[in-house]
Amino acid sequence: MNFMINIADGMMIYTLVLISILALLYILERFRQNNCEWELSRSQLMVCKKCGRVFLVKRLERSRQCPECGHAASRFRIPRTGV
Ligand SMILES: [Zn+2]
Repeated sequence: MNFMINIADGMMIYTLVLISILALLYILERFRQNNCEWELSRSQLMVCKKCGRVFLVKRLERSRQCPECGHAASRFRIPRTGV
């Protein structure tokens, strides 16, 4: 009987399957990150000083005026909740 060889083959196949599953998961994770990554960058999030409207400035957009009242807006700071 070549039982030992079968175990070695089985271990080899098991290892290969494990590695391919890990590789597949890694690829899927990278793909998911590329697809769904939506960072709410603080530099893009603006708040109007006059009316308090919070809005997003597009990445290449230079104008930082409120779309509602046209007043100059400043960077939005995440308010401290004290929790
Ligand atoms: Zn405004």
